[in-house]
Amino acid sequence: MFYVKERISDTAQLTVELHDDNVFCRCPGCGCEVCIDLAELFSDGDGDLYGTAIYCAGYSKARLEVGHGQV
Ligand SMILES: [Zn+2]
Repeated sequence: MFYVKERISDTAQLTVELHDDNVFCRCPGCGCEVCIDLAELFSDGDGDLYGTAIYCAGYSKARLEVGHGQV
């Protein structure tokens, strides 16, 4: 089990267990919240917590449609 540990003050500390449904990132396209499955992200062996950007389903679909329109 993995968890995030963050000290809030001298007397309080927050501990949050990581599950496949409570890890999120911001979509670089529209800024919306995207749920991330860390196991899936790292399954290809070169997952990068800092360099990886995940687009939301709606944004990648919109980009796909724009791409098709330009061809
Ligand atoms: Zn988005």
